Amino acid sequence: ETKVEEGMQVSFLDYFIPEHIQYYDVSEVGDGWNWLDDTAKAFPEAQNCRHCGGCNRACPKGLEVENGVAQVVSGDFGAAALTFDQCVMCNLCTLSCPEHIRPNHLGLFARRMKAARTLRPVDLMRRLREIDSGKMKVEFEEEAM
Ligand code: SF4
Ligand code: SF4
Repeated sequence: ETKVEEGMQVSFLDYFIPEHIQYYDVSEVGDGWNWLDDTAKAFPEAQNCRHCGGCNRACPKGLEVENGVAQVVSGDFGAAALTFDQCVMCNLCTLSCPEHIRPNHLGLFARRMKAARTLRPVDLMRRLREIDSGKMKVEFEEEAM
């Protein structure tokens, strides 16, 4: 998110395969009373955060990643969803975490859980209804072959 400058060096991160991939099904969230158990089951390593701050220092968006991890672990999904709201999923926090927590995926989990248990925005509901009824037409550009 910055312009190219004289003397700038650019490096690329190889795709990496995490040691442990978290699986969960948002449609099985239920009424939300089991979020703490769901989190511990999908992200057991999140409780091992050693508060080293590595994720904070790695984040190009300046997010309070370490706090976000603590918020999810404590069950405060609303606060965590806000903390990770601007996350671009660059994976730098995950690469920097000595506990293999994958903070950005934990944050995405929190955002999905919150969305699954939150009332839908009324403007979006109305717009979707207009599209479904044909009142509003949506045209997609054909991709050039
Ligand atoms: S993945 Fe998100 S939280 Fe992690 S370093 Fe990148 S922008 Fe920050
Ligand atoms: S890098 Fe990992 S262990 Fe360190 S503060 Fe962030 S989440 Fe916790």
